[in-house]
Amino acid sequence: MRYVRPVLMVITAVLLLCVLLACGEAAQEQQTHTHVWTEVTIPATCEREGYSASVCDICGMKRDETHTEPAGHSYELTEEKEATFLEDGCSLYTCSVCGKTEEVVIPSVTHDIPKVYLQGDLDTVTASNRIPFQMTYVSSEQDFSCIAALTVQGGSSAVGGYSKLNYNIRLFDDEELEVKHKVDLGWGKESKYCLKANFVDSTQARNIVTARLWTEMVQTRQDVPEQLDSAPGKGAVDGFPVIVVVNGEFYGLYTWNIPKDEWMFNIHGSDTGAVLFASNWNDPVKFKTPSAMNDSEWVLKYESEDLAGKTYPRLNELIRFLASASDEEFLAHIEEYVDIPSVIDYIILITICGAGDNTSKNALMVTYDGLKFYMSVYDLDATWSLHWTGKEFSDDEKNGPLLATDKSSKTIVTSASNQLFKRVLQHYSDLLAERFLELREGVLSNRSIYKAFEDFVSRIPQQVYEADWEAHPDVPSTKENTVSRIRTYARKRMALLDGVIAAYKAIKPKD
Ligand SMILES: [Zn+2]
Ligand SMILES: [Zn+2]
Repeated sequence: MRYVRPVLMVITAVLLLCVLLACGEAAQEQQTHTHVWTEVTIPATCEREGYSASVCDICGMKRDETHTEPAGHSYELTEEKEATFLEDGCSLYTCSVCGKTEEVVIPSVTHDIPKVYLQGDLDTVTASNRIPFQMTYVSSEQDFSCIAALTVQGGSSAVGGYSKLNYNIRLFDDEELEVKHKVDLGWGKESKYCLKANFVDSTQARNIVTARLWTEMVQTRQDVPEQLDSAPGKGAVDGFPVIVVVNGEFYGLYTWNIPKDEWMFNIHGSDTGAVLFASNWNDPVKFKTPSAMNDSEWVLKYESEDLAGKTYPRLNELIRFLASASDEEFLAHIEEYVDIPSVIDYIILITICGAGDNTSKNALMVTYDGLKFYMSVYDLDATWSLHWTGKEFSDDEKNGPLLATDKSSKTIVTSASNQLFKRVLQHYSDLLAERFLELREGVLSNRSIYKAFEDFVSRIPQQVYEADWEAHPDVPSTKENTVSRIRTYARKRMALLDGVIAAYKAIKPKD
């Protein structure tokens, strides 16, 4: 232990000496050299900042440091491809300093409208002759390629001699048409769609816009079955404008729609359900005489296995009930057969848009239990003053199916020849009046109707409409059929019906 103290002293002395030496050295250097300054400059480039400073050659000390901003590229337009009607163009800019290039897209007129490119022979497609096409779909959201099998969709477009037809389109992965190609275009994954020509309506807006009004009506309705409530379009069609290009050539403006089948009503796989469609004018579709169960009146679009053979008989039970039930029986049991709010909404919508064609024909009936039917709308082209040929307009707001107040029965009556509507209104005029007033505050306000139309047509540039009419010169009334005409009709028609409802409220029986 006696060595500890001397050792510590030695260590301390050595450390002290080191510190003294170091200080001395630094002091000696500062004192003994004069800085020798050299200017150092690193020039800025297009993307990197510049730097300059004076640096001492001896000790490396720096002074007057400056940083300068990057110079930025000096772009010049070196190449340009003009946009065509179908394809975007592009401008190529090159930096004259570093050679870096930038591409800028020049959007085509059709840039914002999805395009459906088909390769194949459209002339050979018929209602029964299914023809496969190579198809590429291009939109700002998604692109895909597949095989598309087309058939002509029936109805007036197929028999009317129109130059532009409606097509059912089924997507597949393979040429054998065995593996479905399902895509989600906003309504969930599916492989079946419709390409609608909207031939009679050159605005192409009426069918989808009016169906969207229906969708919003269903949205505000109470007690809609969950399955219907979560169906795409809530049981009505929906769609969006597309440009169809066949073998590289512009073919026409279409809408890409969901089909009227079980998918539209959210019936899948082993779900119970059936869908009926009123295809033609006759007494069964007016609920006057039982249906003969054939495709010239109520068409069975879908029937689940567990309902096999039961849908037509149930429809006929409803038709017989409408004919035979006393008022008391009617009120007690009608809702076992049909959903009254859906009938009320149907009457309101087809009346406000003057859908003479839809007072019985084009109606859809869906059931989720094989017992109770819900009404829905389909094929709403001949609406808002447009005649079904597309060649005439009913600008007089009194044309088309109307409602009126009947003073003697103190009910609202319809001019539509439809037994279901007549009997429902005998007992539910109050419900219709209240529902009408509620809808007028929302989805069926003038503003909401105008906006729905303007939103749709504003997606389609005028040049695209004109290209469609040039490709299909038989499209009727292209000059006369305008959104402003629809607005004028809607305003007058709504005012007329506001008057009917007000008159009913004035005379309605007190409870
Ligand atoms: Zn120095
Ligand atoms: Zn550059």
